[in-house]
Amino acid sequence: MTCEEVRLSLGVYVLGALDPEEAAAVEAHLDVCPECAQEMAELSGLPTMLGRVSAGDITLAARPPRAVLDRLLAASAKRHKRSRLLLSLAASIVVVAVGGAVLSTTLNSSPETSSAAGAAPEAAARSLAPQDDALASKVAPDASLAPDVMSSPEILSLPQDDPIRFEGRAGKVRLTLGLVAAEGGTRVEIELAGVPIGTACRLVAVDRRGTVSPVSSWTVKKADYRGGKAHLPPGSSEYQIEQIDRFELITRSGELIVAVPIPQDGVPTPAS
Ligand SMILES: [Zn+2]
Repeated sequence: MTCEEVRLSLGVYVLGALDPEEAAAVEAHLDVCPECAQEMAELSGLPTMLGRVSAGDITLAARPPRAVLDRLLAASAKRHKRSRLLLSLAASIVVVAVGGAVLSTTLNSSPETSSAAGAAPEAAARSLAPQDDALASKVAPDASLAPDVMSSPEILSLPQDDPIRFEGRAGKVRLTLGLVAAEGGTRVEIELAGVPIGTACRLVAVDRRGTVSPVSSWTVKKADYRGGKAHLPPGSSEYQIEQIDRFELITRSGELIVAVPIPQDGVPTPAS
C-alpha cells in the first residue's frame, strides 16, 4: 500500500470499518511509516466522539447538511491535505452514521464559540444554514477536531419539551399555564399576574365530564412577583391534556378568580 492509499483508508480504519485484509495492510504500513502513523494518531479521537452520539441525537438531526459539506469540501480542497482528509472523514461520518448532529456541532464549536457548546443540536443545525460561509472560513487548515469539544459531555444534550401555553383573563388578572405531557398526566407551569399579595389560591383542572381534580395551591407572596408576574412552582394534573376542559383558579373559599379554557381542537390561545 502506498502512503496515499493508506491515508485515504485511515478514517475508515479508525472507525473499525475496514475489512480484515485491508486493516492488516494498513497496520503493516503504519508499523514502518512514521508519517502515516502520526496521521493516524491525529484521527484516533474520532470514535470517542462518535460514541457519545445517542439515538435521540440522530433523530434530532433534522436535515443532513450535504450542501454545506460539499461546499466545505470544495473550498478546502485547495488547502492543506490533512484538513481535506478530516473533512472527508467528517462527511462520511455524517452521511453514513448520524446525519448531521456531529458535524454541525463540531463545526460550530471552534474555540471562540465553544461557550455555545451546550446549545441544543436543533439550534446548531439551524445556525448552520445562514452561516455557511462563516463556517467554511472557521474550518481553517489547522482547525482539527478540538479535544475540548470531544470531551464535553453536554454538547448534544436534548432540549426540554416545550410547554403548550394557554391563557385566561378576568379583569386585570391574567393566568398563563404551560402544559407538558408527563408520566401519569400533565405538568402545569403557572404564571400569574394581577392577583393581590396574600390571596390564597387553588388551581384545579376540570375534565370534559366536569370532574374536578386539584393541580396546586399557594398563597401569593410578594417574593413570587418578578417583573409584574408571579412565577409559581409547577403543579401537576392526573388528566392528560386532551381530557382537560379548563383550569380554574379559585380562592380557598371556592370563589372563581379566573378560568383558563383548553380548546377542544387543541389550538392554543395565543399567550403573550
Ligand atoms: Zn506512509
